Amino acid sequence: MSIAFNITVTKDVIARAAQKAGRSPAAVRLIAVSKNQDDARIDAALAAGQRIFGENKVQEAQAHWEKRRLSYPDLELHLIGPLQTNKVRAAVALFDVIQTIDRPELAEKLAAEMKRQGRLLPCLIQVNTGLEPQKAGIAPDHVPAFCALCRDMLGLDIRGLMCIPPVAQDPAPHFDRLQELAQQLGLPELSMGMSADYEDAVGHGATYVRIGTALFGERV
Ligand SMILES: *Cc1c(COP(=O)(O)O)cnc(C)c1O
Repeated sequence: MSIAFNITVTKDVIARAAQKAGRSPAAVRLIAVSKNQDDARIDAALAAGQRIFGENKVQEAQAHWEKRRLSYPDLELHLIGPLQTNKVRAAVALFDVIQTIDRPELAEKLAAEMKRQGRLLPCLIQVNTGLEPQKAGIAPDHVPAFCALCRDMLGLDIRGLMCIPPVAQDPAPHFDRLQELAQQLGLPELSMGMSADYEDAVGHGATYVRIGTALFGERV
């Protein structure tokens, strides 16, 4: 199957899931996750008109996008992986949206660096809805206080929440919890849903779905 075909099919599934949930298909944006994909596949997605991409490592994202973005001024790059504080400068310079704010130290560094570069990027807070010890993210109960720190104390442009539900569980309760928290905090964006569960995520209010293998095939 071609990548252009996969993008069309995926958008179709998103649109139908949105309609079924009484939502506008335009309220859900598709992030093509290009981590571990080769140049030919990335270029095929661009040729098919895809403009929103997600990467989970700063260095790989630089290799994929620093040159390409000069040719695509409407590109929108999301950081969806953990960010080390020593990569904050490079991340702020390259990305358009940071989805993975997951600790106070990182929030402070990002706020200072965004100010320094004059790039106040939209940000999401990563929430560890499953309270998994190996997974990054703020525990759900701590999200309101952390959001207040980011928004009110540090002046970050917090737009929403992001989660990665535990692999072996029904994701629905995790999507619901994220939606509930976002509503409580008045945050419009919900980044949830990957290749295996994005249809479900759209039914539970996702505004961004992050999809890799369903578009590109297995990672190389
Ligand atoms: C890799 C990754 C994805 C995409 O996963 P697929 O199952 O290939 O769709 C989505 N979100 C995050 C945070 C990822 O690291």
